Amino acid sequence: MSEYKINTKCVQGGYTPGNGEPRQVPIIQSTTFKYDTSEDMGKLFDLEASGYFYTRLQNPTNDTVAAKIADMEGGTAAMLTSSGQAANFFALFNICQCGDHIVSSSSIYGGTFNLISVTMAKMGIETTFVSPDCTEEELNAAFRPNTKAVFGETIANPTLTVLDIELFARVAHAHGVPLIIDNTFPTPVNCRPFEWGADIVTHSTTKYMDGHGAAVGGAIVDSGHFDWMAHKEKFPGLCTPDESYHGITYAEKFGNGGAFITKATAQLMRDFGSIQSPQNAFLLNLGLESLHVRMQRHCENGQAVAEFLQQHPKVAYVNYCGLPGDKYHALAEKYLPNGSCGVVSFGLKGGREAASIFMKSLKLAAIETHVADARTCCLNPASSTHRQMNDEQLREAGVPAELVRMSCGIEDKADLIADLSQALDKIPE
Ligand SMILES: *Cc1c(COP(=O)(O)O)cnc(C)c1O
Repeated sequence: MSEYKINTKCVQGGYTPGNGEPRQVPIIQSTTFKYDTSEDMGKLFDLEASGYFYTRLQNPTNDTVAAKIADMEGGTAAMLTSSGQAANFFALFNICQCGDHIVSSSSIYGGTFNLISVTMAKMGIETTFVSPDCTEEELNAAFRPNTKAVFGETIANPTLTVLDIELFARVAHAHGVPLIIDNTFPTPVNCRPFEWGADIVTHSTTKYMDGHGAAVGGAIVDSGHFDWMAHKEKFPGLCTPDESYHGITYAEKFGNGGAFITKATAQLMRDFGSIQSPQNAFLLNLGLESLHVRMQRHCENGQAVAEFLQQHPKVAYVNYCGLPGDKYHALAEKYLPNGSCGVVSFGLKGGREAASIFMKSLKLAAIETHVADARTCCLNPASSTHRQMNDEQLREAGVPAELVRMSCGIEDKADLIADLSQALDKIPE
């Protein structure tokens, strides 16, 4: 598939049926797989042969859909996980253990921030957070001898900052560690971080990839570029024998292209079992088949909404990297030349009260904590998810009282703008 363009990969990547086989990806709804001899099965357990034995570790439907995502990102191997949270945890925990350290952009999804700053800290893994806008010197200064990975989001949820992937990759590599990028918001349709030096990509497939608000899921993709054996002392889990798998050394046996995902499957899926159900993988694949068409519309609507809001007298500011005056416009032109995503955030001049009236007045845009599906939704953190905080606390948390996050769906942009317009009219002058 890899010679085809991204639009073709979305539709046909990962699965090529043989003569007389199903045209659509079959859902293999089976927990177990049958073998003729114990020896046949033993070879699978020893990782001497590839095949399936138990769906807690691997399932053929999942692997077909993972292969499509690997193809779309330009990677060598991929796996599906039960959620985006599981994907980010596995991607980091696959190369970090107690006593290790991570450098992460501070501008990341709240769930990921909590995962690494609270839960992984309890496991003895420390993280230093850096601004996504930091200089090369500031980034360098965050490293320690025990740093094992650098983490960031291409377009951060919800702050909409754009990461300088090339800079972060160069600095990570100078310190002998991989760059892990959560590419959920742009999807590989709008940005392929491997082309800019990232080593591992993660996704919450719950968002645009599924695209219909139907199934929670995640994915991890390996570029195959990172040379683990060249940094053997940092990555003993990949570069020394795994006694829980008969002394296999993943980086030697599976090479740079296969070691990371094989280890994550053999150890982390085996022990944590955070696998996506084959039914959800099937739904995800249906979403992927139209991803390239939907992303174009999400971006078109996002741009139109951002431009409408920017000239509206009751709007104080708009964050959208597609706007020429946006702080991240130059980075977006480099990394996201075909568009970014459908998520726009903006501040209302009237503060908390104006935001409350505005939210109540929306008719088409639904109030949801979710983002990035076919239906437009809005959230005012101050009056919902963060309502216990006062104005000062909200500002410190980066979600000022007047802030509204709008995830533009794929409806007609004229209807979205009309809905915004009538809700803005309800705010007193
Ligand atoms: C939603 C999201 C996650 C978490 O994904 P879930 O599928 O909800 O577990 C991680 N990263 C980003 C950027 C997200 O938007």
